[in-house]
Amino acid sequence: MAPQNRHDTSNEPADGDGGTLAGLSRRGFFGAGAGGLAGAVVLGAGVQPAAGRTTVARSAQGLVAGDPHAPSTLRATAGHARRPRGGLQVRILPIDRATFRPGARFDLRVEASGVDTESTRIRIAVAGPDGPVPLLVGTPERTSSEPGSIEVTYRGLAYHEAGSHRVRVIVSSRTGRGEAVVVHEVLQTVAPPRPVKNVIFCLGDGMGAPAVTAARILSKGITEGKYDGLLEMDQMDFRGIVTTSGDDSIATDSANSMSAYMTGHKSSVNALGVYAGNDPDPNAQPRVETMAEILKRSRGMGVGVVTTAEVQDATPAGVWSHVRLRSQYVEIMDQALNPGQMPDVILGGGRATLLPQSEPGSRRQDDRNLIEEFEDEGFTYAATRAQLAQAVATEPDKLLGSFTLGNMNVYIDREVTPDPEVLGEFTDQPTLMEMTRAALDVLSRREEGFFLLVEGASIDKMQHPMDGPRAVYDTIEFDQAIGVAKRWAQEDGDTLVVVTADHNHSMSIIGTHDARDEASPDRQANRVYGDAGWPTYVDTTGDGFPDDPDPDIQLFFGWASHPDHSDDFEHNDRFAQPALLDPDGVAVDNPDRDPGALVQTGNLPYDQTNCVHTVQDVYVMASGAGSDRFNGVLDNTDVFHRMIDALALVVPQPDRPRETGE
Ligand SMILES: [Zn+2]
Repeated sequence: MAPQNRHDTSNEPADGDGGTLAGLSRRGFFGAGAGGLAGAVVLGAGVQPAAGRTTVARSAQGLVAGDPHAPSTLRATAGHARRPRGGLQVRILPIDRATFRPGARFDLRVEASGVDTESTRIRIAVAGPDGPVPLLVGTPERTSSEPGSIEVTYRGLAYHEAGSHRVRVIVSSRTGRGEAVVVHEVLQTVAPPRPVKNVIFCLGDGMGAPAVTAARILSKGITEGKYDGLLEMDQMDFRGIVTTSGDDSIATDSANSMSAYMTGHKSSVNALGVYAGNDPDPNAQPRVETMAEILKRSRGMGVGVVTTAEVQDATPAGVWSHVRLRSQYVEIMDQALNPGQMPDVILGGGRATLLPQSEPGSRRQDDRNLIEEFEDEGFTYAATRAQLAQAVATEPDKLLGSFTLGNMNVYIDREVTPDPEVLGEFTDQPTLMEMTRAALDVLSRREEGFFLLVEGASIDKMQHPMDGPRAVYDTIEFDQAIGVAKRWAQEDGDTLVVVTADHNHSMSIIGTHDARDEASPDRQANRVYGDAGWPTYVDTTGDGFPDDPDPDIQLFFGWASHPDHSDDFEHNDRFAQPALLDPDGVAVDNPDRDPGALVQTGNLPYDQTNCVHTVQDVYVMASGAGSDRFNGVLDNTDVFHRMIDALALVVPQPDRPRETGE
């Protein structure tokens, strides 16, 4: 594209700022890659129009199930993350106090609103610990995303040196003058005495402390107040606390929290690998480099994702993708075919996004068959548990397993009380343990080391509809997958295992419920304090999962947030939504769940059919070399940096070759 920007080549006064604009010349400004600039001036005219705004259609015929993350999706698409309060406003992305690694790529975006677009002049100055820093490389994109707004975006920048960097932006326009300053912290690698070669990152989605406690009660048992055993995640070398809020809100979702773990940058609800700018095009947001991109570019490491969700779901997608909206499943999957982002192992649900539109159940609106495209890239494909075992036996370099159209079924429905009507044609799905073993088998042949995500996804997906037993059995399954990872890592001796959650959830363990009690209403059979005693789950097979999720005395699950719903406090043989949307979009009690039980009045807005994430901190646990730094209170972005430190990874500048092996 021909540079159509007009530039102010007069030597601007430095405004007393360390990041002086002096020395800026036309030649320097156009000199992409020639070391960059410490400052730049961009005038408003000649902007490129931003793409058309996306909308979300919404309809309800009769009663319909609601998406637990839908309301935030609606808000995120209906407006911008931060609407200016009036007057001339300046916003800089990445945000103040953002953390970086030298060499890691990011886009720098300046948004000036409340301006007259023709007369606007934007001055950007960057200063490091030793004065002006030539950060700005290349020709910036200039856009006007809405009336009275001018944006400037530099793509693919990277800081060269560690230390605090100050980005100062001054905007002048006929409407006034505005200024913003952010400080970016560029962190040096703090390598442990013996760096690791591999990282296994285990994420229990929505796994707050209650899910862990309930899993321990059901899986290990408890006698006179002492547990009869500990979970795998209880027995890690170090433990800390993670705070989970995003840059837009105290309440996070799985997208921006996973993005924090995978990029070291906070983001907004529903966003992956990008900051939420004001561009209406979800694919034009300013990007930050993802774990997959950094590890592949720096060291040629293998990357794997294993999940019980659709592989395009927020948590696995966070490993490689850049999207403003986590619901962009097709875009997320298409990005996985880009060589710089491509995982080497992809195991989970989500076949709907792989199949061409002609196939039943396809989510695509084109004729691409991504299973074939991945096979063309050297992947071996498995559609069932049996095929997964066969595929692993052939020692493939790359492995794609897609075992259901949508999310995989939960452990109770897959393994404990399989129901043909629930499973449909997907009767041969692997467990999370089997998928973890398969991924490790493939990735362990990578000379350069690997990063593997193991996600217990339905710990979250079953807490949203307030199904305690299904959430807890999936927590036990996740814990057993952690056991697979730990045993592999202990044998290897060169591997860090990190276990955490992305956010807390509404579930709480209050006491027990005595299902033998004919009391009416059912809440009269809930037992608290000394009356609670002990539940009667029994595991005669010793597999860690109680034989019957519906014993006489069960856990009494309470929910901090909920819609209007009825609850008999007993396990449901078949899953049922607690509430459904009526034609007016109002959540009402689902008449088919616990019919006849007392309806509990909700505390959420009327459009919410599920309970929602909560803001409390979550655990992080770690074992192996470098695990000692996973203690204390960590921001979720710290977790990224501590994994990078454990690997002693030095990220090369974007235009330089990768590290050579030792
Ligand atoms: Zn959730």
